[in-house]
Amino acid sequence: MTTIVIGAGVIGLSAAYHLARRQAGRVVVLEKGPIGDGSSSRAAGIITGLLWSPTGVLVRKRSLALFRELSRELDGYQFRETGCRNLFSAEGWTERQPLLPLYDRLQAPYEILNEDEVSACWPSLRVPEGTTGLFDPLGGYSETSEYLPALAAKARTLGVEIRDQQQVYGFLLRNGRVAGVKTAAGEIEADAVISTVYSWTRALLEPIGLPLPVKCFVHQRYVCRPRPSLPNIPAVNANPCRIYFRPALCGGLLGGIETPEREEFPVRSLDFHQSSLSVDPDLRRELRNRMQILLPGQALPSWEEEKIGLLTFSLDGEPILGPVGQLPGLFVAVAFHSGGFAYNPAAGELLAEFVADGRTSIDVSAFSPDRFPLEEIEPYLAHTIAQKDVVRRRH
Ligand SMILES: Cc1cc2nc3c(=O)[nH]c(=O)nc-3n(C[C@H](O)[C@H](O)[C@H](O)COP(=O)(O)OP(=O)(O)OC[C@H]3O[C@@H](n4cnc5c(N)ncnc54)[C@H](O)[C@@H]3O)c2cc1C
Repeated sequence: MTTIVIGAGVIGLSAAYHLARRQAGRVVVLEKGPIGDGSSSRAAGIITGLLWSPTGVLVRKRSLALFRELSRELDGYQFRETGCRNLFSAEGWTERQPLLPLYDRLQAPYEILNEDEVSACWPSLRVPEGTTGLFDPLGGYSETSEYLPALAAKARTLGVEIRDQQQVYGFLLRNGRVAGVKTAAGEIEADAVISTVYSWTRALLEPIGLPLPVKCFVHQRYVCRPRPSLPNIPAVNANPCRIYFRPALCGGLLGGIETPEREEFPVRSLDFHQSSLSVDPDLRRELRNRMQILLPGQALPSWEEEKIGLLTFSLDGEPILGPVGQLPGLFVAVAFHSGGFAYNPAAGELLAEFVADGRTSIDVSAFSPDRFPLEEIEPYLAHTIAQKDVVRRRH
């Protein structure tokens, strides 16, 4: 049995690693650039399990367990168990509060901390009045610069062939099935092909008559210089301010800012590269000002490292993951909104289960690629939308 994984981002590498762990035959990963060349190397790596759908909560719960296992299994990788603090405005909390019974039922732990409790835990962190904090004690963050090479090395040790600089430009179709891929270096036959090309999904799959309702948006995050004393803070998703931040590896802080008015970014060509993206330099100042509200009294140094990349969202905001009904042999994983890093350990495991067993340990029918009727896909793809118009999803 041969499985080809297209794309060596966190999702593709994770799928390959789980297939190899199961000894599910030959596994070949084809990546058009170097490993992690897409959004994965740009991610902030923040992870929370407190999502909005039963499937999302279950899959993230598995991811959080796997991140801890991977910390023991991968050389040079450590999941930072700081917890993740999700902040909500009064309006945002009205939407989130009804999900607490879901978290109770699925045993996803959480704590609701008031302003005094927040100050007691993290003295440098202030919560603006009227804000509710939902703390995920199992959440935290990872450094993608540690995780990507560690996962790739482990996959290779387990026998996975990772071929970089090898672009897939088409599929071998035989008797209504996907039977392999076409690359500049030649055709490769396979029993299963997994597409994990994220922002390039429409460019790769539309030519074989598979339109998926996904849209891409530019997103940016920054790291500031090391600070003499790093404030003790968890990962923070500050939804009311539309920012997030966490400690960074270098001893500085990492922060990201949303841009709701920005229009979608269409990726039309397989040759597109995220290094061609640019953003308004004023966003750096804006992010700093907003962070200062939550970290008063902290002298925030200016931002040094900038990472700009793409996020993909689906029509209903949930990921798309699983076999493609109309094309046996093809499996897809895409549209992880701004949370694909957080999803990756469980997403890879689920893909491996689909390929090797034909069924999964968690019911992910809500993520099925077949769930969108064509009459909904066509108008969705025909119109340009702004990021504020997509179903809002964070990490
Ligand atoms: C600035 C920023 C911050 C983020 N912060 C977070 C965060 O805090 N937490 C979180 O969970 N997520 C975060 N995300 C989202 C996260 O990065 C993505 O959801 C995740 O990386 C998706 O992984 P992937 O493997 O599906 O895609 P990618 O990493 O984009 O991988 C796809 C790969 O496919 C390759 N490829 C494309 N076409 C072809 C082809 N034809 N042939 C061969 N290879 C091909 C590409 O080169 C690329 O390497 C962030 C994203 C950005 C941009």
